[in-house]
Amino acid sequence: MNIILLGPPGAGKGTQARKLVEERGMIQLSTGDMLRDARSSGTEMGKRVAAVMDRGELVTDEIVIGLIEEKLSGEQGGGFIFDGFPRTLAQADALGELLNKLGQNLDAVIEMRVDDKALVARITGRFTCGNCGEVYHDQTKPTKVAGKCDVCGSTDLKRRADDNEDSLKQRLMEYYKKTSPLIGYYYAKDALSVIDGLAEMDAVGSAIRAELDKS
Ligand code: ADP
Ligand code: ZN
Repeated sequence: MNIILLGPPGAGKGTQARKLVEERGMIQLSTGDMLRDARSSGTEMGKRVAAVMDRGELVTDEIVIGLIEEKLSGEQGGGFIFDGFPRTLAQADALGELLNKLGQNLDAVIEMRVDDKALVARITGRFTCGNCGEVYHDQTKPTKVAGKCDVCGSTDLKRRADDNEDSLKQRLMEYYKKTSPLIGYYYAKDALSVIDGLAEMDAVGSAIRAELDKS
C-alpha cells in the first residue's frame, strides 16, 4: 500500500508517518529529511538547496523528483508513505508516472487539515532528537529530563533553521500557492480522504488507520 500524507508544514505528517513505519513496516519517504541529509553531508546539491530551504521556499521539482526516484527503485517493504512530497502539480504527475512504471498504485491520499494559528504555535516550539528522530515541543511535549531524549537518551536535540516565524510564513504561502491545488487534483482522482489534524495525536493516528483500512 502506498500513501501520501498531505498538509501544511506542522500538520503532523512526519509524526504520523513514523507511527506507520513502526506499526506496519511501511517506508517513510520524506523529501524534507532527504534534503536535510544532503545539507549535512555537504554534497553539491545540499549546498545549493540550503539557502532556499532556510527561506522557506520550495526546492526545484527536478531535485526532489530525482531524490524520490532513487528511493523508489530500492526496497519496497510494506509500501511507501510519501511525507512532504509531492508539493507541486508537476511532482504529483511525476509520482504517478514513477509508480506506474513500477507497476504500483497510489492507494490513498490523506489530507491532514489544521488551522494556521495552530501551525505557528506547533512549529515555533518544535525540536527533534538528532539521533532517533523523536519530535518534541516546548509546551505540549517537553522531554522528561531537560536536554535529554526520552526514547534514546541522546542529548543531541535540535531545532530546524527554518522553524522560525518568518520562514514559516513563507512555507505557508508556498503551501497555499503551490501545494494546496493537489487537494483538488487527488479529489478528482477519487483518492482523497480528509481528516482532522487538530485532534490529539493518537486520535489522528486512528483516523489515518481507519482511512487506510478502507482502501
Ligand atoms: P515542513 O512540511 O515542516 O515544512 P519539510 O521537512 O517537509 O517540512 O520540508 C522542509 C523544506 O524542504 C521545505 O520548506 C522545502 O524548502 C524543502 N522541500 C521538502 N520537500 C520538498 C518538495 N517535495 N518540493 C520542494 N521542496 C521541498
Ligand atoms: Zn532520541
